[in-house]
Amino acid sequence: MNPRPATPAESARTFTELYGGHPDGIWYAPGRVNIIGEHTDYNDGFALPMALPRTTRVAARRRDDGLLRLHSTRGGGRITELRVPDLAPGTVEGWARYPAGTVWALAEAGHPVGGADLHIDSTVPTGAGLSSSAALECAVAVAYDALYGLGLPGPELARTAQRAENAFAGVPCGVMDQMASLCCVEGAALHLDSRTLEHRQVPFDLTAHDLTLLVLDTRVQHDLADGAYAALRAGCERAARLLGLPALRDLPADRLPEALAGLPAGLAPLVRHVVTENARVAEAEALLAAGDTRALGPLLTAGHASLRDDYRVSCAETDLAVDTAVAAGALGARMTGGGFGGSVIALTPAALARAVTEAVTTAFARAGHRPPAVLEAVPSQGAGRLA
Ligand code: ADP
Ligand code: MG
Repeated sequence: MNPRPATPAESARTFTELYGGHPDGIWYAPGRVNIIGEHTDYNDGFALPMALPRTTRVAARRRDDGLLRLHSTRGGGRITELRVPDLAPGTVEGWARYPAGTVWALAEAGHPVGGADLHIDSTVPTGAGLSSSAALECAVAVAYDALYGLGLPGPELARTAQRAENAFAGVPCGVMDQMASLCCVEGAALHLDSRTLEHRQVPFDLTAHDLTLLVLDTRVQHDLADGAYAALRAGCERAARLLGLPALRDLPADRLPEALAGLPAGLAPLVRHVVTENARVAEAEALLAAGDTRALGPLLTAGHASLRDDYRVSCAETDLAVDTAVAAGALGARMTGGGFGGSVIALTPAALARAVTEAVTTAFARAGHRPPAVLEAVPSQGAGRLA
């Protein structure tokens, strides 16, 4: 189910063909799925993501003349040439915004960074809600951290990568994707406090419980850069202001009914989602700590209902995947990522993984949708050096 990534030797060979000479090293950063805690990060709330066994890799060589050369196997074959001192929001278009923005954000933060030659390849599907954009930023961030001897901790690199995406690529995302890509550890989910960036590893052993976490990529393209995400974010910020709170994270669950009663009808469901979703993160962690991994299932499905009915970021394809997976024996399922398409996760008894996959594929064919792409989510290691 998982494609074979280029080996370090293959990446180095391609680098040599493109630029001559050899890379100084090869770094990687993974995509992620979020187990629970969706649309909470920009509300200063909590999330529980894990890294995927799908990575973006960067073969990189430092340059001291300020030139930044970028090549991606998904970049149309061309090498993009930029000058680091000239980087500014609005000056770069297309995919190169993500790596160039990361270099810009490091420089903006006052770090002594210059040019580089970068060759990028990836097994993270793009636009599938699995955070290929953060994987790209974070792979470049860890490469630059090493090339320029910065020694920055994961949360600081995550904030820098988020700034690249917000201010340079023009996508108003929260910080969860970048924290997951940088700070996850193999075999664990990451408890994340998006306000403080405090995080801890929550052991997540699917095999011990005979479980498979399926990722069903609906292959419906979402576009987080469009207005919907920004409007939701603005709605949450407005609700927090009306409630006199710094962020929706500061609304305790027991004050929810009273808060909802005083809010405009358009904002109340957003607030209900965020507050109940933060509670679901805490509940999920408690279940994992108690070894009750199977009981995550209903929590995932409840999270999906909240995203569908209150936050309204689901769509026909993700709803169909969730409903069909559960009907076919998954313990629970939900859309993951920003929404408007993208991927669904389904927590499935390992013995039923194939039946669930087939049921969803059949339901998609009947509904006239393209077949979903399926991968298995195994809690994997966050960003680092490969070679
Ligand atoms: P997601 O992060 O869910 O995959 P986004 O829309 O946030 O979706 O980011 C996808 C975009 O990130 C792509 O359209 C492309 O511009 C860029 N991108 C991601 N990975 C790569 C890659 N390996 N090479 C080139 N561009 C990439
Ligand atoms: Mg993204």
